[in-house]
Amino acid sequence: MAINIIVSGKSILETDAEAVYVGFFQTDEKDLKELKEFAKNVSKCIPSQVIAKVKELIAAKKFEGKKKQIYPVYLSDKKLVVAVGLGKKEEYNSYVFRQVVSCVSKNARDRKVKSYAFFLDNNWVRMNFEATAQAFGESTLLSLYKFDKLKTKDKNGNGSGNGILQTAELLIEDKKNIDPGKKAILVAQQIAECINHARDLINLPPNIATPKYIANEAKELVKKYKLKFTVLGRKEIEKNNLNLIKAVSSGSNEEAQFVILEYNGSNKAPICLVGKGITYDSGGLNLKPYVGSSASMRNMKSDMAGAASMIAVIEIAARLRLSAHIIALMPLCENMPDGKSYRCDDVIKAYNGINVEITNTDAEGRLVLADALAYAQKYKPACLIDAATLTGAASVAVGYMGACVMGSKEIVEKLKFASKDTDERIWELPLWEEYAELLDSKIGDLKNSNESSGPGTIMGGIFLKNFVEKTPWAHIDIAATATTEKDVHYTESGATGFGIRLLVEFVKKYR
Ligand SMILES: [Zn+2]
Repeated sequence: MAINIIVSGKSILETDAEAVYVGFFQTDEKDLKELKEFAKNVSKCIPSQVIAKVKELIAAKKFEGKKKQIYPVYLSDKKLVVAVGLGKKEEYNSYVFRQVVSCVSKNARDRKVKSYAFFLDNNWVRMNFEATAQAFGESTLLSLYKFDKLKTKDKNGNGSGNGILQTAELLIEDKKNIDPGKKAILVAQQIAECINHARDLINLPPNIATPKYIANEAKELVKKYKLKFTVLGRKEIEKNNLNLIKAVSSGSNEEAQFVILEYNGSNKAPICLVGKGITYDSGGLNLKPYVGSSASMRNMKSDMAGAASMIAVIEIAARLRLSAHIIALMPLCENMPDGKSYRCDDVIKAYNGINVEITNTDAEGRLVLADALAYAQKYKPACLIDAATLTGAASVAVGYMGACVMGSKEIVEKLKFASKDTDERIWELPLWEEYAELLDSKIGDLKNSNESSGPGTIMGGIFLKNFVEKTPWAHIDIAATATTEKDVHYTESGATGFGIRLLVEFVKKYR
């Protein structure tokens, strides 16, 4: 059972939750202005003993309200209130809120309580109330996710810490917000469930999550929702001249699958979403090296995160019945070394007729995306967005704190708007004309990579730009954000599901 989230107008003393978390802005011993003001505002909901104890903690320098600082305040054997730091008031925003909620849910799980409550003061609602409640739901459910599908023992029980934690309660100060809060939590539950499912797909090993397995997962959705599903296998890929997809998959025993999943919630021209779906990337004949103590082939199962994300976007759109027309295109295949593999020096004619000279078989993601982006033109899309774990250089550019984005101004700007509302951060990189010559091929039209080091992430974008014609388009490089080695904010190590909320928000807002 996943965690149940309830919304109520109860006070701290009224709730049955075993632990109640209350946020405090950063303050110090001399200047208790924030605390006094807070105490005045919430006197009906928070017992004065709590405020008095927090004052003591501040005086003893045990708790200052620093961002994500946590300190228990025992009122009795049965009543545990936990003070949570919200950081400096002037630096507080929705991103801080999500991080604090994440920290609270993990703390409750680790305390092994059955239920906990989170007190939501009006002062912390920086977005509109629904958005704040939704952020609470999303952050809670995404933070408690753990991948335990392949464990035969020590199961985590859907994030509940061996099934102990069952309920999270959102205590709302303003009673008129209870109904909107309930609605927002329902939306958050739908979104988080689909994201966590995508995380499962990304975390599953490549011997299980093969192209056919993922194609089948997409097909499963058709039974539940009104969706259109098409899959092109090896023969159809060949017949349709999707030669780049064919080339990348040629060294693998796993048959490539080009999946097209359509959600038709409006009769407008579709938004086409293309997700990179390399279910395992060994690098191909340019086998990934073993550098120092780390094998760069490790974790290459997650090279299909783009495709998994697009399946989730379609499922969320279907569950929330969004008024949108979305077509997700997912080229799924493995990149393996073999006698039948494509080689460096090969020149391959892409779906749109461009002759691509292969200079590195490990730059395979852009090849399958290129064919998929060109193929998407047949749907006459209003716009095109691709998401891909494309370049290691993305982490050099902005680290794991955000994704790199590039493309048409209008789409990039709309993505930036969606990014603000979802706190999934993106940073724009340029696609200046002069970059194009770095991919000039002497014997074909275009090289798939530039052998000398340079702006690696931009090169990926520049390459793809050749396949989108005049359609407004953006490319999101999620290589640094799709997975994480350690717990960061509201994610656990492994797949993060980054980009899904961003794209759902983009689709919702798209006009
Ligand atoms: Zn590669």
